[in-house]
Amino acid sequence: MEFENRDDCERIVTAETGPEEFKHEVLLRPSNFTEYIGQKKVVQNIEVMVESARIRNSAMDHALLSGPPGLGKTSLAMIIAKSIGSELHVISGPAIEKKGDLAAILTNLGPRDVLFIDEIHRMNISVEEILYSAMEDYRLDIVIGQGPSARTMQIQVAPFTLIGATTRSGLLSNPLRDRFMAHLHFDFYNHNELASIVENNARKLNVTLEKKALILIAQCARGTPRIANRILRRVRDFSLVKGETLISEESVLKSLALMEIDNYGLDRMDRKILQVIEEYYKGGPVGIETLCATLSEDRTTIEDVYEPYLLKEGFLLRTPRGREISQKSKDHLKKLN
Ligand code: ADP
Repeated sequence: MEFENRDDCERIVTAETGPEEFKHEVLLRPSNFTEYIGQKKVVQNIEVMVESARIRNSAMDHALLSGPPGLGKTSLAMIIAKSIGSELHVISGPAIEKKGDLAAILTNLGPRDVLFIDEIHRMNISVEEILYSAMEDYRLDIVIGQGPSARTMQIQVAPFTLIGATTRSGLLSNPLRDRFMAHLHFDFYNHNELASIVENNARKLNVTLEKKALILIAQCARGTPRIANRILRRVRDFSLVKGETLISEESVLKSLALMEIDNYGLDRMDRKILQVIEEYYKGGPVGIETLCATLSEDRTTIEDVYEPYLLKEGFLLRTPRGREISQKSKDHLKKLN
C-alpha cells in the first residue's frame, strides 16, 4: 500500500489537522519499522503479530493503541498495513453515526485489510455493538424490522484487523476492550528519540541543523513527535526568511519565543492552566469542571491534550479533591513574571 498518495491523504484528514498541516504530516510520517523511532515495547509486540499473521496467512489480531495525541498511533497503523501488504481504512469513532455506516465500512473490507478507528472510545455504544461479532467471528448480526416480526440476518465479512486508537483506554466499554488481543500503551518520547526524529525529518524537509539546535527542539517538544515536527517547520520557515543555510540554536530560540514555547516546552495554554490554578485558586486543589469553566475550555481537550504532559513532568498534581500545582510550577511561573 502506498500511503503517500492523495487518496490516503484525504482519508485521514481530521478536524484538528487542516490540509496544509496534513500534507506535511504525510511527508514526515515514518514509512517502515526502521524509520519508526522509539516505543520499543509496542513495536516489538506489533512486529511479532505481523510476522505471525504472515506465517498463518491470515489477518493480524486486533490491537488497541492508547496514549496521548501525536505519539505515533496512526503512523504505526499505516506501517502495519504496509507490512502486511493490505489496504488501510481510516475512520474516526465519533464520525460513525449509524450502525449502517459501520456495517457498510466492514462489508467493504478486503481480506487482511486494516481498519483503523481513531478515538474509538468516543464511538456511539449502539454502533459499537456491531463490532463485537465482526471482531470475534468476522460476522455481522443485523436486526431487520421491529417488534415480534424482527429477525436477525447474518453477513460474513472478510477477515480483517481492527486497530483502535484511544487517548483514554479507561473509557472503552469492557466488551469492546476484551475483544482486542493486544493492548499497547504509548509513552512520551525521550529527548534522544525526539532528536533522532527531528534529524530524520529535517533531511526530508531539506534543512540542516546544528547539533545544539536539534537538541533544543527535542527538549521543547513535550515528548511528542507531532509537536517536534511543528517546531521544526516553524524553525525552517524562520531560517528560510533569514537566508540561513545551517540552522543555529539561536534561530530555534527565536522561533520558540515566537511560538510562545518556553524552555520546558510549555506553551501558552499550559502556562495559562497553571497560572489560573495559582492565581484564582491559590494553587489548588480545584475541581476539573470548575477549572475548565474558568479557562473556557472543553474538559476533553484539557484532560487529553494538556494534562498528560503537565502531570508527567510534575507541574500538575491530581488529587482526590481536584488539580493542584506543584512547587516546580510555582518556581517556573515566578521566573516568568
Ligand atoms: P497519533 O496518531 O498518535 O496522534 P501520528 O501517528 O499522527 O500520531 O504522529 C504524528 C506525527 O509524528 C507523524 O506524522 C510523524 O511524523 C511523527 N511520528 C510519530 N511517531 C513517530 C515515530 N515513532 N517515529 C518517527 N516519527 C513519528
